[in-house]
This record gives sequence, C-alpha cells and structure tokens, in this order.
Amino acid sequence: MQVDADLHIHSRYSKAVSKAMTIPNLAENARFKGLGLVGTGDILNPKWEGELLKYTKEVAEGTYERKGIRFILTAEVEDNRRVHHVLIFPNIDAVREMREKLRPYSADIDSEGRPHVNLRASEIADLASDLGVLIGPAHAFTPWTSLYKEYDSLKDAYDGAKIQFLELGLSADSEMADRIKAHHRLTYLSNSDAHSPMPHRLGREFNRFEIQEATFEEIRRAILKRGGRRIVLNAGLDPRLGKYHLTACSRCYTKYSPEEARAFKWKCPKCGGRIKKGVHDRIMELADTDERPKDRPPYLKLAPLAEIIAMVIGKGVETKSVRVIWERFLREFGSEIKVLVDVPVEALAEVHEEVAKAIWAYRNEKLIVIPGGGGKYGEIRLPEEIRNVKIEELENIEVEVQVEEYRPKQRSLMSFLKPK
Ligand SMILES: [Zn+2]
Ligand SMILES: [Zn+2]
Repeated sequence: MQVDADLHIHSRYSKAVSKAMTIPNLAENARFKGLGLVGTGDILNPKWEGELLKYTKEVAEGTYERKGIRFILTAEVEDNRRVHHVLIFPNIDAVREMREKLRPYSADIDSEGRPHVNLRASEIADLASDLGVLIGPAHAFTPWTSLYKEYDSLKDAYDGAKIQFLELGLSADSEMADRIKAHHRLTYLSNSDAHSPMPHRLGREFNRFEIQEATFEEIRRAILKRGGRRIVLNAGLDPRLGKYHLTACSRCYTKYSPEEARAFKWKCPKCGGRIKKGVHDRIMELADTDERPKDRPPYLKLAPLAEIIAMVIGKGVETKSVRVIWERFLREFGSEIKVLVDVPVEALAEVHEEVAKAIWAYRNEKLIVIPGGGGKYGEIRLPEEIRNVKIEELENIEVEVQVEEYRPKQRSLMSFLKPK
C-alpha cells in the first residue's frame, strides 16, 4: 500500500506554534489533506506525550491511531551548536529513555517542544543508535539552525556516528541535495515542519511510502530501503517558494548574489540587517557532482492549493473564504494532490473556474514564481493572459511567462552605494 506521511511537525508546546496544534486537530486536518500518517513531533515533551496517549490508541509498536490517522513518535532536538536533528522513535520506552539521557544536558526538555541539548551532533547520534532511534539532520541547508550552516560535510558533524536520512527542508529539493555526493546513499525526507494545522502548512511537504501497513516498523524499513519497502515520491514545495531559497537580507528581504553579500560583509547596505545565505547558494558552494543516484525517487514540486486559491480570489490564505473553496475541492476530489496533479481541469472548473485555470497554469509551469529568501516565503502570481481567457481556450493561448530571475540579477556593487 501507499501512504502519504509528514514526519516533522511541532506541537503547541514549541515556541511560535499555533495553539490549535493539538492531536485531534492534527488528525482532522491530516484526513482532509490526504495524509495517512503523521509524525507527532515534540514527543520528548512529557505533556505532548500525555496528549498523544489521551487521544489515540496504540495499534502496533510505536504506532498510534486516531480516527483512521496513524501517528509515529518523532521529535526535533537542537544540539550544542544550534544544529537541528530529526528523531524517529521505535516505541514510547525509547522516548522516555532518551528523555532521561538528555535531561542532564538540557534545561528545557520538560517545557519546550524542541529542546536545546548541550551535546555534540555525534553524541546525540550515538545515543539514538543505542536506543534504535532513527536520526538525520533537519532542514539540512537553512541558514540559522541547520547542519550546513555550521559544517561543510556530514562527516564533520556526525564524526562517523550513523544517520539514516536527510531532511531536505522547504527551500531545497532532491535534485539540489544530490549535488553533494555524500548524500547519495541517504534517504531524503520531505516534511512540512508545520507550526500550524492549517492546510497550507501541515503536509505542504510529504513522503509517499510503499509499505505493507502504516506502522513504525514499516516506515523504518522503507527509510532503510529494506524488503521492497521504500519512498516512491518526495512531494514538496517548489524550492523557490521556500523562505531561505536565495541569499537575502533577513530584515528587509532585499536579495543579493553571494558575491555581493560577501562584499558587504553580510550586512545589508539598505537597512543594516543581516544577510542570510540562501540554500541555493550554499549548495552551489558545496556541490561536488552532477550525477544522480539511480534509486532516488522523483520529487513533485507543489504549490499549496490554499495559496493558489488565495492568489486567485485576492484574499489572505488563512481567511474563511479561502477555506470554504478549499474544502469544496477536497470534498469533491478527496485529496489535495489529486486536485493539484490528477483531476482534469474541466472537472475542477465545475467547482471553481478561476481556480481551475490557476491549477492549469501551475501544472504547465505558467505561474510566475517570485523566489523566497532571508526568511520570506516566495510568492506565486497568475499571469494576466490566463486570468482573461476562457477555460476552453487555455490550451491555445501563448503565455509569455515573465519568469522572475531564478538568480537575482547581477548588479554592480556601485549601484548600491550611489545615492538615488
Ligand atoms: Zn528545526
Ligand atoms: Zn536589509
């Protein structure tokens, strides 16, 4: 069977997370979204563990269920150099044991969702190994709290300790991550890192597993590529829409080339803010191969349906009017993926013609993408030519998409320094 799973989210006990991040809300929104399995996130927090046990039933080792949605035990920890790691636990005893082992090194393990632990990456990975916990770097390339903001290789960070996967993060896809040869043996995870159960957050990235049943043990085998179990699809945000895709100022979001950023000593000449290196530019620095591993599953680039609807009707993505249209599509066709990828445009048009046109544009790569950077998500825009044409005529029109430069335009350094 195939199961869509999002293995990295945060609970309401983590900083800056919606109060609506509860187990019942997660289960309900996962069903809407078409996910069969969700990582609990934050399971090292004892209160979140309590909520999980209260609202779900254990159906297999390390596997819980509420209203048809399965949960497995996951968490994210921050190490002594502020690098984040994703953990996937085999059972609740391993969670509790890990919590006890980490407590002497962590001041906030009982209060935070994502605890800070004063141990090296390799020490955390060794502990994980001892307890049968799967581990890998979270959002591996982002500029604040990832492995590659701190180290130049997996080996530098983990120092020979075993890891089983690498999480791509929203600003990278498989093709980008494969530019580094050392990744080729690893399974990639594409997870949402959602801080809210809203449909444009939960499951905005997910992994399609080919497994016998939605349990921890089957997920483990798939991540280790054993017994025919595997990930058959990584689906995720178009990496250009990620908020750290290009190099940009973290205060005013002006984009810079890496050369410009270096010349300005990573301080924005416009506002004095810090310039953060984009994931695209970080990967280009480290790239050492053009080859791809043969067993890498395809990566499906998504734009969240709720954001497409918001763009079309000109309302905020979290408004009621967007939610109403989103639910109509989901009720009619079952899952967001089907709406985005499979259902014929004519059928979509019976629910909402304008949105159907935008989905056609998304499928045919005719949406204008303005890349993200510096902490600001990228944006999608619908070309006017498409807005103005009837649905039957879509196939015939010539759309001259003004694709925003993938790379920021090279400007001379002087153009920044000259007074306007
Ligand atoms: Zn993180
Ligand atoms: Zn700035």
